[in-house]
Amino acid sequence: VLSVTGLVKEYGGKRVLDGVDLEVAEGEVVALIGASGSGKSTLLRCVNLLEDIDDGQVFLLGRDVSDPRVDPDLARRDMGVVFQAYNLFPHMTVLDNITLAPRVVHGVPPAEATATAMDLLTRVGLADRATAYPDRLSGGQQQRVALARALAYDPKLLLLDEITSALDPELVGEVLALVREIAAAGRTILMATHEMGFARQVADRICFLDGGRVVESGPAAQVLGNPEQPRTREFLRRVI
Ligand code: ATP
Ligand code: MG
Repeated sequence: VLSVTGLVKEYGGKRVLDGVDLEVAEGEVVALIGASGSGKSTLLRCVNLLEDIDDGQVFLLGRDVSDPRVDPDLARRDMGVVFQAYNLFPHMTVLDNITLAPRVVHGVPPAEATATAMDLLTRVGLADRATAYPDRLSGGQQQRVALARALAYDPKLLLLDEITSALDPELVGEVLALVREIAAAGRTILMATHEMGFARQVADRICFLDGGRVVESGPAAQVLGNPEQPRTREFLRRVI
C-alpha cells in the first residue's frame, strides 16, 4: 500500500528525516517508535503530503504521490489521519464532522453519508452523541469520533500520530481498544506511538527511528523483546 524510499526532510538546513525507507503492506499494522524529536510525526506528515520533501519518494498504491505533478488533495483521499488532539471541527456536530468529507469531497449523497456515519458511531460506541458538539465530549470520545471520521471514506491507509498522548490516563484504554478493533478488522495502519505495550499487541512490525533514520525494523516481538541495535536497546531501557 505504502512505500517510502530515501525520504529526506530538512527544516532550515537541519536534517529531520535522513533517508527513510519504509514499506507498509496491505492489512499490515506498522508502529513507529523512537525518542521525542526522532522524526515520527514528520514522517507521517510527509506521507500525508503535508510537507514538501527534499529528496526521496512516497508511493501510495503504486503511484508516486510525491511527484509535484500529483494533486496532494487527490492523493490524500486514500488516507485517513488522526493526530494527537484537536481533530474535530468545533463548530460542527459529531455527525456533521463525520459526513463532511464524504459529502463534500467524495460526493456521497447526504442520506448515505449519514447512514454510514451512524454505523461508524455505533461501532465506536457513540451513536447517542451524534448531535453533540465536540466540546461536550470527553477527550477519549473525541478521539473515537476522530477515528470514525477517518474511516468514513474507507481509506486505504490509516495514519495515527500519538492519538492517546493528550488524553487523561483513564481515557487511553478506550481509544486503544478501538484501534485494536480497527486493526483486527484488517485495516492498513501506520502509527506513531509511545505506548510500547500497545505497539507489541497490535503492530505486525515496528520501526525504531533515531535521528531521522530507521535504525531497526522487524516483527514487534523481536524489536521490543530482542532488539539487535544498541540504540534500540538503550531507547527501550529508558521507556519501559
Ligand atoms: P515526538 O515524540 O515528541 O512527537 P517526533 O518523533 O514526532 O517527536 P518530530 O515532530 O517529527 O519528532 O520532529 C523531528 C524534528 O524536527 C525535531 O527536532 C523538531 O524540532 C523538528 N521540527 C518538526 N517540525 C518542525 C517545523 N515545522 N519547523 C522546524 N523544525 C521542526
Ligand atoms: Mg510527534
